[in-house]
Amino acid sequence: MQIISPNYIYTPDLLLKNQAIAYDKTIEKIAPLDELKKLYPDAEIIELQENSLIMPGLINSHVHIEFSANKTTLSYGDFMNWLYSVIENRQELIGGCDSACMSKAIESMLESGITTFGAISSHGMDLEACASSPQNVLFFNELIGSQATMADALFDDFISRLDASKSIKREGFYPAVAIHSPYSVHPILIKKALEIVKDEDLKLTAHFMESEHERAWLDNSSGEFKDFFEKLLKQKANVSDSSEFLAHFNTHKTLLTHAVKANEDELNSIATNAHTIIHCPISNRLLGNGALDLQELEAKNINWVCATDGLSSNYKLDLFEEMKVALFMHHNMPLQDLAKKLIMSVTKNAAKALGLNTGEIKEGKAADMLVLDLEKEPNEELAIHLILHRYNISKIYINGKVVKGK
Ligand SMILES: [Zn+2]
Repeated sequence: MQIISPNYIYTPDLLLKNQAIAYDKTIEKIAPLDELKKLYPDAEIIELQENSLIMPGLINSHVHIEFSANKTTLSYGDFMNWLYSVIENRQELIGGCDSACMSKAIESMLESGITTFGAISSHGMDLEACASSPQNVLFFNELIGSQATMADALFDDFISRLDASKSIKREGFYPAVAIHSPYSVHPILIKKALEIVKDEDLKLTAHFMESEHERAWLDNSSGEFKDFFEKLLKQKANVSDSSEFLAHFNTHKTLLTHAVKANEDELNSIATNAHTIIHCPISNRLLGNGALDLQELEAKNINWVCATDGLSSNYKLDLFEEMKVALFMHHNMPLQDLAKKLIMSVTKNAAKALGLNTGEIKEGKAADMLVLDLEKEPNEELAIHLILHRYNISKIYINGKVVKGK
């Protein structure tokens, strides 16, 4: 047992003062230091410096580690141009990111306080880097392919990647499944994958309604995807519309990424089925997809979480930066309230969506903790200060183990 004694704890429901934390892998008890010393006389005690604050480690629910080589290669401003640039440069990007490149991206997430992440893995090339990372990882093996003739081969490849991820046996590593998107995965494949997901109760995610082009293609097989599918895959119509796609997930809570162009019916279905929407503001802006209507999600009681997406549509993997951009993007929402909700979204609410026992400084939760060095006593506007000032993170704990700092 160890005891850590900061000045402040942001749980993040509450700001506690003059309380200490007794923990091993999980948080055992939160109480004044004197009380904890009596309860655990043999515990090692870590007393932190003046104005120290402990908050939960951050959770980045959506990132593409395999695309971490991109800096200036991909085209920004319009989703279709970006997609064509991904296809054109795919080999260079994938080949250009070896395990050192992927580990660097993972390390940069840790430096910015991310103790848990959801990796969308297209090829399984990031398995080793994710498996050997210090963080908790949901490893989402991605299924893609809209052509029925290719279904068996694609499914076999998906299964072998899923099996490889299942062979990783370490604390905090969870094999999971990603369905790429409504326009890119044939319903036959989705059904087969969902059988496994439900049988094994795996976590599930999918991209959904990211661009206006996706909207047009799913609604009436028109728009710029028409050319794309005809030229590249000789496909004349969509493989499913959005309601058929969403229906696959009706009995399994799913994390749907982007949803910028989702309509009222789709949002109602998302709300009814208690899915979560993953909001990636920087990616949405860079690919010309506009801004998600967070107020509408709030009105419908839809859980939403903030995430970075990959370096294929971002310049860094930093949730403090992402939250800052979200604060400015959603300028109609009350500032303090939005700041609190954003922090909640990358801690407690993300943990809930991913089914993980973390995201809070609370008895019984995993000891995934950040030590931040504030400059003075925090006030009731702490959430906005955390986002704006990006305080130094001097120590990071994952499952009770120090992974950064001494
Ligand atoms: Zn993505």
